[in-house]
Amino acid sequence: MQTPPPDAERRRAIAPVICYPTETLPPVDLPLYADALGTAEVIDTVIVPPRDAACFSAPAGHFFRIVSSEGPQVGDLNLWNAQDLSERFYSGKTRALHGTHVTTGDRLWSSFPALRPMATIVADSLDWYGIDAFGGSVHDVIGTRCDPYTHRQLSGGTYHHCCHSNLTRALAARLGLPIAEAEPHVHDVLNVFMCTGFTRDTGQYFMKASPVRPGDALTFFAEIDLLGALSACPGGDCSTEHSSDAASCHPLIVEILRPEPAGLTGWAPPPVNGYDRSHGT
Ligand SMILES: [Zn+2]
Repeated sequence: MQTPPPDAERRRAIAPVICYPTETLPPVDLPLYADALGTAEVIDTVIVPPRDAACFSAPAGHFFRIVSSEGPQVGDLNLWNAQDLSERFYSGKTRALHGTHVTTGDRLWSSFPALRPMATIVADSLDWYGIDAFGGSVHDVIGTRCDPYTHRQLSGGTYHHCCHSNLTRALAARLGLPIAEAEPHVHDVLNVFMCTGFTRDTGQYFMKASPVRPGDALTFFAEIDLLGALSACPGGDCSTEHSSDAASCHPLIVEILRPEPAGLTGWAPPPVNGYDRSHGT
């Protein structure tokens, strides 16, 4: 290790600045969403079996709600533009804009070049959790998803029900694609209900038992036509391990809700990003 320079403490003491201040983003009209949600009725329900995934459709102007049932369970969420799978949820930029964990009022942003809100979180029954003494919080955009490749690298084994594989099978079945064509569409997830953080001493990604209980829910507004896929992680509540059949796992429920159209007066789907894509040429 290098000897610290004489001014090491002074350099460390420099105060940080926020990379991406969000005050200039289009405001989130939570009262409008709340009023619309108050008029909404469930038009479809999808059950996500444990250690498996399922796809769902959420048209623009509808809500979708992920509900915990039977027992504590973490879900791994992918979202695509229903008309163009190349526009998909961008976990990294969502993290850069809103922080490591998301809750009511935060948006799920899409990939370049569209970079627009795909969905807005309008209700979160776990918003009371905050940030615990370990630095943990819920609904993270820091993890990627459990996958058979990392599992093999770390443990040498073969496990077919990681979230990555579950999402791949579900998307392939939904679109009628060969598994190898579906897999590249699967991307870094929103870890719904998962409780995670980084250790203070080593900066490592950690998980701990999710505080979610049956009846808890995370509710989104679909800003554009969405195809979604949700995996009920083989880690269950992610208190001990994933990538195995060891954990107790439970189903998750996805409800699609349609509001009264009059309740959305003033809302319009967000346009794609205005950058001209010339990149200085
Ligand atoms: Zn998983």
